[in-house]
Amino acid sequence: MSTAPRTQHADPSGEAARRRTFAVISHPDAGKSTLTEALALHAKVISEAGAVHGKAGRRGVVSDWLEMEQSRGISITSAALQFEYDDCVINLLDTPGHADFSEDTYRVLAAVDSAVMLLDAAKGLEPQTLKLFDVCRHRDIPVITFINKWDRPGREALRLCDEISERIGLQPMPLTWPVGEAGHFKGVLDRESGEFVGYERTDGGAHLARENRLTAEEAASEVGEEWNRAVEESELLTESGGDLDTEAFRAAVATPVLFGSAVRNFGVGQLLDLLVRLAPQPATRPDTRGNPRALDAPFSAFVFKVQTGMDPAHRDRVAFARVCSGEFERGMVATHAATKKPFATKYAQHMFGQQRDTVETAYPGDVVGLVNASALGVGDTLYEGKPAVEFPGIPSFAPEHFAVARTSDPGRAKQFRRGVEQLAQEGVIQVLHSEVRGEGAPVLAAVGPMQFDVVTQRMESEFRAPIKLERLPYQVVRLVGDRNQSAALRTHNSEVLERRDGVTLAVFTDNIALRSLVRLNPDLDLRNLVADAE
Ligand code: GDP
Repeated sequence: MSTAPRTQHADPSGEAARRRTFAVISHPDAGKSTLTEALALHAKVISEAGAVHGKAGRRGVVSDWLEMEQSRGISITSAALQFEYDDCVINLLDTPGHADFSEDTYRVLAAVDSAVMLLDAAKGLEPQTLKLFDVCRHRDIPVITFINKWDRPGREALRLCDEISERIGLQPMPLTWPVGEAGHFKGVLDRESGEFVGYERTDGGAHLARENRLTAEEAASEVGEEWNRAVEESELLTESGGDLDTEAFRAAVATPVLFGSAVRNFGVGQLLDLLVRLAPQPATRPDTRGNPRALDAPFSAFVFKVQTGMDPAHRDRVAFARVCSGEFERGMVATHAATKKPFATKYAQHMFGQQRDTVETAYPGDVVGLVNASALGVGDTLYEGKPAVEFPGIPSFAPEHFAVARTSDPGRAKQFRRGVEQLAQEGVIQVLHSEVRGEGAPVLAAVGPMQFDVVTQRMESEFRAPIKLERLPYQVVRLVGDRNQSAALRTHNSEVLERRDGVTLAVFTDNIALRSLVRLNPDLDLRNLVADAE
């Protein structure tokens, strides 16, 4: 059972207007799973949060979601959670973190219209959040900041705001301001209405917290000193440009900030309201020629994630696609832009798990999981009707882990080559070649080391071509602007590699090696590559 609307043949641009498609960017342990549950709780798709966490301790987000799906009947794929709130359809796309952080994590950000940056009040900006934020910045994705765990001791609110403006250059625009320091949290000042929203400790956060609002006068007499301090600080914020400016948020130069506690369900309703009120709806997507595809044009979508082996019963390949225009209808036959071949969507899945539910319809901003999608790779476009449309591919991201792959069975050299090629095409790993190392020893490049495990396992089980991986000591990569400079880039701390698309990359053991080479050769044309395909 899905909570998604089942309206047949609705108007795509009207449906798009009520979609909010976003992802949470955070560092492991900041509270992403807890916030996801709390959001679902507020949207009333589940009646009690905490149950999933309480049962078997820590789990991955996917299994948390799977369990939520089975016990509560929410619409979940391993890629997206969909629910209705306040007449909007919210699509929360999963950004895998923890051990499974990989290129997929970044690619999800190609499929969202906004992001929620979740910070731990005691830790501020952490490395994984910064990496993901870089991708948001590159794509001009508007970011809402949620400062979590305010129920326990943390940093001062003003310091956290300073950190946001100093380290990532976004102007913080707090919509609420904490009354009482982290750990002695009384509630927040709603900076728009001037009211006090009291924090009531609920039973382990298991139930929806009641909002207890007081007027400013009531708060001044009931809360006292801490309220007065919050009011003063809020006035200072106004003076330093910290009031809400919707345009600046949409332009991705400023970030609305909320303070709360996901585990106590505090501030979560405000976050949902903010998403509905301010977060951008799906926009028209430009095709490879730069022409925007109208939302009301016939169905089109692009694949942002490909996953295999999701169903243990039979091996399958699911391509997750974000709808860009028109109406998706189960059973429709779309065209695969790369091959111009028809692709039947008979088995479109909305959820995964024991009881798969089939999507009947989907609209711009929604995610559909297409099964038996062996022809589809990351970045591929599907469309219906004429004229043909193709969206730009998803950029490849700067890898940080490198390994040389060799077949451990010389008799399987052909299968080895085919397997590596196939995994590269699917986007499981980046494959680089070096003149020096030769074709039989491709260099695999990954954003997260788990990608190597996936390659090793699939080469053996699917292609029957077991491989040996030798890790290389490189961590830093740059795009080489002028390939005539390659010779200077081959040192004992660096190497030159060619990507499948013809781009030349230089890899370095660390930033020191990179800097000293640049000092010796100041004319080197080296460029950053957060996302270079655009
Ligand atoms: P994830 O790794 O980002 O998905 O983080 P989790 O949602 O699993 O949370 C990590 C830990 O932080 C868990 O023990 C949560 O119970 C705890 N946690 C999450 N939100 C809060 C919060 O608002 N306050 C406190 N005190 N703990 C929280």
